[in-house]
Amino acid sequence: MLLTWVRTGVSTTPLFLYSNRSSTVEEEIFVGQEDDPELLDDFDFEQNEDTPIKDKDVYKQKLKRRASQYKIKLLNPCRKGKKLLVLDIDYTLFDHKSPAENPKELMRPYLHQFLAASYSKYDIIIWSATSMKWVELKMEQLGVLGNPDYKITALMDHLAMITVQSENQSRKKTFDCKPLGVIWAQFPEYYNEKNTIMFDDLRRNFVMNPQNGLVIKPFRKAHSNRDNDHELVKLTHYLLSIGDYEDLSRLDHGKWESFIDDSAKRRKRS
Ligand SMILES: [Mg+2]
Repeated sequence: MLLTWVRTGVSTTPLFLYSNRSSTVEEEIFVGQEDDPELLDDFDFEQNEDTPIKDKDVYKQKLKRRASQYKIKLLNPCRKGKKLLVLDIDYTLFDHKSPAENPKELMRPYLHQFLAASYSKYDIIIWSATSMKWVELKMEQLGVLGNPDYKITALMDHLAMITVQSENQSRKKTFDCKPLGVIWAQFPEYYNEKNTIMFDDLRRNFVMNPQNGLVIKPFRKAHSNRDNDHELVKLTHYLLSIGDYEDLSRLDHGKWESFIDDSAKRRKRS
C-alpha cells in the first residue's frame, strides 16, 4: 500500500492507493476526514441555560454508557503520581488543512520538545475527533509514537465522544464533545478531575469539563506561521509551573498566559 499526501479541495488528506485485484484500475480510498471545524464555528458557551450541559442527567447517562462501551487501549502503562495531559490533534498539534509533501511540514513547532518536557510530570493521551486509523497514522508520521524521549499513554478517537445539545438564546446547536469522564471512569486510580488538563482549539469540546480545558490558539497556515508560532514553548512553561499543584481544576486555564508572566516576575524578584 502506498501512502501519499494530496490536496483535495481545501484539505490535505492521506491517500491510500490500493491495487484492486479484480481490476487494473487503482482504487482510491480517502479516510479520516474530520468534519470541517471551520464550518462549525466554535460558538461560545455562555451557559445561559438553567442547568449547564455537564449537569444534565441525560448527558451524565450518555457519558456513563460511553465510558462503559469505549475501551481505551493503552500503548504504555499509566504512571502513579503523574498528572494527565489530554491533547487534541487538528489545529492543536498539526495543521491538517495545508498542502504538504510531508506531514512533518505541518507539525506545530516544538512539538517533540513540548511532549518530552511535559512527560516528566504528565501522562499524555492524544484524543482526536477522527477515526483511530487516522489518529495512528498522523502520530506515526509525525514521529510521536516510538519517540525515545517520551511515551504516549493512549490514543482516543471520535467513538469516545458524546453528542450534546446547547440551547443558547433559544437556538439549539448539536455538537460532539470530549468528556474526560470516559478516561476517569476507566483509570480512577490514576486520573481524575483534579489532575487532568486538556488542550483543544475548540472550547465546545470541554463542555462536559469546563474546568479542565485550555483553549489553545489554533495552528493554521503552517507554511507562513511555522517560524513564529511559540505556543508550545509557552505552554510547556505553564504545564511545568502548575505540575505540582494539588488541584488543577481550581485554576483558570483561560488566564494561562498571565500566570506564566506572573511566575516569571516572581522568579525574578526572589
Ligand atoms: Mg482541533
